[in-house]
Parts: sequence; structure tokens; C-alpha cells
Amino acid sequence: PSVRCLGKERTLAMIKPDGVSGNYTEEIKRLIVEAGFNIVKERLTQLDKETASAFYDEHSSRSFFPHLVSYMTSGPVVVMVLEKGDAVSDWRGLIGPTDAQKAKISHPHSIRALCGKDSQRNCVHGSDSTSSAEREINFFFKDVVSGDIDSQHDEL
Ligand code: ADP
Ligand code: MG
Repeated sequence: PSVRCLGKERTLAMIKPDGVSGNYTEEIKRLIVEAGFNIVKERLTQLDKETASAFYDEHSSRSFFPHLVSYMTSGPVVVMVLEKGDAVSDWRGLIGPTDAQKAKISHPHSIRALCGKDSQRNCVHGSDSTSSAEREINFFFKDVVSGDIDSQHDEL
């Protein structure tokens, strides 16, 4: 591997519909870069019901699933591939706990504390493990050659 790959890891980040519609995209991207991540891929897109359901398939039996799908399809999202050492756990650390109400108390400097509302509308997503990261990066960026720095935006 080339030197710039040594020690690097990739994770999938998403700015959810409430983050995009609340105009947090630029602030979140600034926090990402300040924390030492490289944004290697980026795409603005609108999830349809089928795509949101497939992305969150692990939660399909949960009572909140239908609400989760309608939330995730309520407006455009920004999906990004982030790269740095320990990207998966460092990005989870930066976004804070799932419930944004709790994040505001226990992790006041986290992104979910900044722009989330509650346990559903928490403004950002992060892969929870390296295996999830691999699945989720392929889910959104399978058409892009890995390693390229790339930014593309879907027609909405
Ligand atoms: P995380 O996004 O922190 O990995 P989960 O994987 O447990 O959290 O849940 C996926 C998403 O489903 C959450 O980010 C949130 O939007 C929504 N969600 C999770 N738990 C609840 C809940 N109890 N009620 C409503 N929505 C929820
Ligand atoms: Mg999760």
C-alpha cells in the first residue's frame, strides 16, 4: 500500500434531512475537517423509501422503523466517506450518543448536541463498526473507484 494509506481507516458519515434543511452542512463539514478527517467522497442525494429501508434493514422489526423511514426520506441528505486513523470510532465519538437530548447533557460539544432534536431526529449518521463501514460505503459509493477523491451531487 502507498504511504498515505498506512494507518488510515474509512467510515460512512451522513448529514440527515434535519441537518441539511437546518443549514448545518457547512458547519458539520468544518468540524469534520478540524477533527482531522479527510472527506474523500461526498454526495448530495434524496433517499427513497426502498433505499432508506434497505440502509436501515437491521432495524426493520423495530416499532420506530416506519417513522425512521419517513424521517430519512423527508428531504435531501449528504453522504460522505471520511478517512483518518480510527475513523470509525472517532466519528462515532464526534457525533455523540443516538439520543440528541441526552447528547446535549452528556456530550455538549458533540454534533448531535449541536443540531439534533431527540432520539430520532439526531441530524447525523455514523457507521458503528468497521464491517458496517464497509457495507455502508459500498451501499452509497459502489460506482466509484476506491481511493479517488471525488465529489458528486445527484439531480434532486
Ligand atoms: P445510531 O444512529 O446512533 O447508530 P441506531 O442504529 O440505534 O442509532 O438507530 C438508527 C437511527 O434510528 C437513529 O440514528 C435514529 O434516527 C433512529 N432511532 C433510534 N432509536 C430510536 C427510537 N427509540 N425512536 C425513534 N427513532 C430512533
Ligand atoms: Mg446505528
